[in-house]
Amino acid sequence: MTDSLFNTLAPSPPDALLALIAAFRADPRLDKIDVGIGVYRNSQGQTPVFSAVKAAEQQLAETQTTKAYLGAEGDAVFTELLAPIVFGMEHASSDRLTGVQTPGGTGALRLGAELIARATPDARVWIGTPTWPNHAPIFSAAGLLPTSHAYWDASRGRKDFGRMMAALEEVAAGDILLLHGCCHNPTGSGFSLPEWQEIAKICNSRKITPFIDLAYQGLGDGLDEDAAGLRLLLSTVDEALIAYSCDKNFGLYRERVGALWIQAGSSKAVSTGRSAMLALARALWSMPPDHGAAIVRTILENGQLERDWQRELAGMRARLGEVRAMLAAIGPVFAPIGEQRGLFALLPLAAGDVAELRETYAIYLAPDGRANLAGLGPDTIARFAAAVLTRIAISKA
Ligand code: PMP
Repeated sequence: MTDSLFNTLAPSPPDALLALIAAFRADPRLDKIDVGIGVYRNSQGQTPVFSAVKAAEQQLAETQTTKAYLGAEGDAVFTELLAPIVFGMEHASSDRLTGVQTPGGTGALRLGAELIARATPDARVWIGTPTWPNHAPIFSAAGLLPTSHAYWDASRGRKDFGRMMAALEEVAAGDILLLHGCCHNPTGSGFSLPEWQEIAKICNSRKITPFIDLAYQGLGDGLDEDAAGLRLLLSTVDEALIAYSCDKNFGLYRERVGALWIQAGSSKAVSTGRSAMLALARALWSMPPDHGAAIVRTILENGQLERDWQRELAGMRARLGEVRAMLAAIGPVFAPIGEQRGLFALLPLAAGDVAELRETYAIYLAPDGRANLAGLGPDTIARFAAAVLTRIAISKA
């Protein structure tokens, strides 16, 4: 009997964050705190369905007449209505932009990676560290070489823009630079507009193509504010890719809805790029799942539902701001958190500290010390902060 085909595969380690969900669920301690998994939570610890999403789903259930295939581009009206939110009214209709619906931001990143791999297989993809743990595997899976550049200064709990820019001076012409559009995961530390301007300048002078990953629009300072850097960059560079996720800002996580846009310098390049995107999407998933995009489209087609969605999103943003302000007021270790944005903060904790926080204090953080601040509220912040400070003091001693 021959050995199994599957035994030739190297076993893959389980996803650390997904393992954390199971460990948290199994923990019987009543005062346990989950700041691990990256979903928004309200002050009761829930991740509710937006009321606009519920209303849109109801409307779809009543009025949708078919679920026949749409095509590799997905719901074109979804992409068209989303574009002004992402790019601003003026740029959204630019003939230099084209977009398709994808299965979540992950699908958009993967489709963009495949496109790059076909167009320029030897390009390196530069990614600041730390980053979302799935970034490098997505680009590797497409056959590209993800390469790290400096981003974070752990000793100050802030990004180090100077070191990042110095690293980019070494990037070869034709390479790709992955940028978080806002609400950096895991650090919460994004770019100011003057910094976006400098990034645009270096992309132009060194012929680097930016690939912007916008997965948290509206969870930072506002829908327009969170896209301002991306818009500035696109107004300065010729070509770019934009991966977008609606999974956080519409609370549609498991429905998997996002989009990939490309910006190109000529209408010929746009149409060639689009045809390649469609052919690649066809081989990856044939066509994206419809339900999430149909919900987003239904919301954006209806002024009242759109206002309801924006109001709920503003409430989430305000809550994150409050948690950040409360933590920042506790002491210098947490002070940078007040200036950072989005769901996440990266705390100066080693793997041993994270394990100790879990075992002794029932506090569940991601293994790298990333905390999802939406897992905290007025009742838990003081206990969380005290436990973290205790661990930091012990580690330093
Ligand atoms: N980019 C970043 C930075 C993320 O944090 C995530 C999700 N955690 C994604 C992309 C992927 O989003 P989605 O769930 O829509 O695939």
